[in-house]
Amino acid sequence: MATKYVYFFGAGKADGKGTMKDLLGGKGAGLAEMTNAGVPVPPGYTITTDVCRYYYANKEKLPKELEGQQKAALEKLQKTIQKSFGDPSNPLLVSVRSGAKFSMPGMMDTILNLGINDVVVEGLTQLTGNPRFAWDAYRRFIAMYGNVVGGIEKNEFEHILEAQKHQRGVKLDTELNVNDLQEIVIDFKKLYAAKIGEDFPQDPLKQLAGARDAVFKSWNNPRANYYRKQNKISDALGTAVNVQSMVFGNMGDDSGTGVGFTRNPSTGEKVFYGEYLTNAQGEDVVAGIRTPKPIAELAKDMPVVYKQLREITSKLEKHYRDIQDFEFTIEKGVLFMLQTRTGKRTAASAVRIAVEMVKEKLITKEEALMRVEPEQLDQLLHKVIDPKAQLKVIAKGLPASPGAATGQAVFDADTAAERGGNGEKVILIRQETNPDDIHGMDAAQGILTARGGMTSHAAVVARGMGKSCVAGCEEIRVSESAKQFSINGTTVKENEWITLDGSTGRVILGKAPLIEPEISGEFGVFMGWADQIRQLKVRSNSDIPRDAIVAREFGAEGIGLCRTEHMFFAEERLPFMQQMIVAQDVEARKQALAKLLPFQKEDFKGLFREMKGYGVTIRTIDPPLHEFLPKTREDAEVLSKKIGVSTDKIMHAAEELHEFNPMLGHRGCRLGITYPEITEMQVKAIISAACELAKEKIKVVPEIMIPLVGNVTEFRDQKDIAVRVAEETMKEYGVKIQYQIGTMIEVPRGALTADEIAAEAEFFSFGTNDLTQMTLGFSRDDAGKFIKAYLDKKIFKDDPFQTLDQVGVGQLMQMAVLKGRKVRKDMKMGICGEHGGDPASVKFCHRIGLSYVSCSPYRVPIARLAAAQAVIEGKSKKGSAYSSK
Ligand code: PEP
Ligand code: MG
Repeated sequence: MATKYVYFFGAGKADGKGTMKDLLGGKGAGLAEMTNAGVPVPPGYTITTDVCRYYYANKEKLPKELEGQQKAALEKLQKTIQKSFGDPSNPLLVSVRSGAKFSMPGMMDTILNLGINDVVVEGLTQLTGNPRFAWDAYRRFIAMYGNVVGGIEKNEFEHILEAQKHQRGVKLDTELNVNDLQEIVIDFKKLYAAKIGEDFPQDPLKQLAGARDAVFKSWNNPRANYYRKQNKISDALGTAVNVQSMVFGNMGDDSGTGVGFTRNPSTGEKVFYGEYLTNAQGEDVVAGIRTPKPIAELAKDMPVVYKQLREITSKLEKHYRDIQDFEFTIEKGVLFMLQTRTGKRTAASAVRIAVEMVKEKLITKEEALMRVEPEQLDQLLHKVIDPKAQLKVIAKGLPASPGAATGQAVFDADTAAERGGNGEKVILIRQETNPDDIHGMDAAQGILTARGGMTSHAAVVARGMGKSCVAGCEEIRVSESAKQFSINGTTVKENEWITLDGSTGRVILGKAPLIEPEISGEFGVFMGWADQIRQLKVRSNSDIPRDAIVAREFGAEGIGLCRTEHMFFAEERLPFMQQMIVAQDVEARKQALAKLLPFQKEDFKGLFREMKGYGVTIRTIDPPLHEFLPKTREDAEVLSKKIGVSTDKIMHAAEELHEFNPMLGHRGCRLGITYPEITEMQVKAIISAACELAKEKIKVVPEIMIPLVGNVTEFRDQKDIAVRVAEETMKEYGVKIQYQIGTMIEVPRGALTADEIAAEAEFFSFGTNDLTQMTLGFSRDDAGKFIKAYLDKKIFKDDPFQTLDQVGVGQLMQMAVLKGRKVRKDMKMGICGEHGGDPASVKFCHRIGLSYVSCSPYRVPIARLAAAQAVIEGKSKKGSAYSSK
């Protein structure tokens, strides 16, 4: 049987159904479903997305069966509405709209009034007795068609219109008379002929073919491509074309047109919400030329129609069981519904609507949980830029840590710390940040870096602090010495105001208005439902008690990663750490470590206390030691005075520690292997903290975690030290506590030999930042330079440091889970790389059977919701763990 490419709808019956979004697009499926539900929809037909796919697969040719099917549909349409295409005595006019599966603002503008020509316009005049309307419709059609199909700039038509108004000395379009409009039509047609090289098409069938092809072409325009990339919509979906008979809202005061929502899309409140205009066509309402009236006034203007509209829209909401965004037109007192679709909404309204619809018994709790995008929750937890604000976006980097921030530009951490400490709002701008900058990052509103990826220092630390960060903004040139950055000829100097949008990566010149986050009562109810359903536990990556408190408030059930090295950077500790690093012998090193021990012990006690009996995974030191040493001779001199070691010796130590590739160098367990006394000190601090709290009757189960293990022998070396020190410490305190020793799986060899390691390790935690780096062979600090090109060229769909590469890195994880659990059944396994807070990655972790995910505190609610959604999705889909969503 020939493929069906054209689906008719109207007169109470449609060929398609609401479930056919893939084939008919969102709009087409919606029109079919509305028709089937008995809603008065102007009749028409939908050309399927199959045709769009065919078009691109066959060098922009259309399937040959299309013509016949389209002709048949057009005939049926003419019969149904009892008007004919091109017939001046009773003309059929249609609208042509694109309609992909998902609503896509980047696609083609709607073409209205298609079918008008020099003859039909006269016929319309006769029929309506309203020449102004007929000529107005014609001039609008030529401009729209010329722009959308012919590619002529809109403002070229605008110029002609403005010139006519100017000549006539009037301000508004509505003040133009029939003669003016006729002259405009002549000029529009001249413009068209001059630009296109042929006359404006008079044959409605030719007009229709042009508009249809323009829809397919628009699928691939840069705006649409950009939108799809931003919203992770597949290029392969294609768009449908909807051809629908026109009804006219501009046929006098008993006509009108409007748009609305069944609930308020910004707050979620259950009120009928919308606006309309009398005597107007569709685009007048949204174009902002005339100010529309609130929909409540329709009750006075046209009470019967208003009542019918209320009945239909509430029926639609019940039918679709979701907030509806609808368009309607009234033609001489008769109501037509033009379209209805699921209303877009803010995060706050999404949560409120979901919760209220469960209470209204419209949807189940599970459906409610699926109605909110986990990523959307970010909007509730962070400040956002007022969507109404006019913005001057000057650059775009990686959306490294969500939320918006505004402040005066500063270019070094000390200034940021000082001015931020004084209550001033500053944005810290650096080429890239390093651990020395923490105090400045802490005091700044937000952080902007020119280098580094999604797991760069700036990104990881900012996420932990819940601070806005745009990282890897490679297009800006930062000069820290001149205290300025430049981009495309604009220079931003110290003290100039800038705004960051860490959720999108935008860098904005000036002080944009921000909206404070607001957490409503519904949020708690909603998250409670997520918690009832999910199987994955959610922990947080937190290094200090302050972060742990935030994490608990967001619902974290333990700490999945405490990066202990972050504790060494605080001002009063760093010199001891540095003393330890430059120590010439073991004794001197031990002395320095002994000074660090009390600090670490107190830190751990603080963390344990805040986590109230939940698991706390503490990782032994990981980064290469050179990161702790001064970079310049000047700084070395300052340190020399503090610790009584000569500047030369410090510089010499720094040189000795220099590595060509520190990420693959002397770090992770390799440090503990070469300097066992560091592991000894850290384990002693952990176990002492636990013993002291045990004496206060506070229960803690410390989980000691060894980083960067690729070989069981490395793990065994560190475990032996840890067990020995733990036993000694417990003996000293006369207390017995439960503790566990496990490992990160972040080196590919670790994953490949997970069975051997599981024989020794009590738990695994996947360090997917390093595992991604080492599996892909992409330096996590340098990938920012080329990832953008990979995404632009569609070599990668997502940044693998943001969303887990399930097929590659994920396969190693799944293998490690299976191998590990073969040896140690029910082994606790989690993830603590940044992917632990990415919804698609969280869902993957659920599917491969991890016990928990761990992410930065502010992503905990996102992970909780994603984990719940993974369970719900798992019920409806069985099959492979690997998926794109
Ligand atoms: C990781 O590698 O995923 C990880 C959590 O450790 P870090 O980012 O500190 O290397
Ligand atoms: Mg790591």
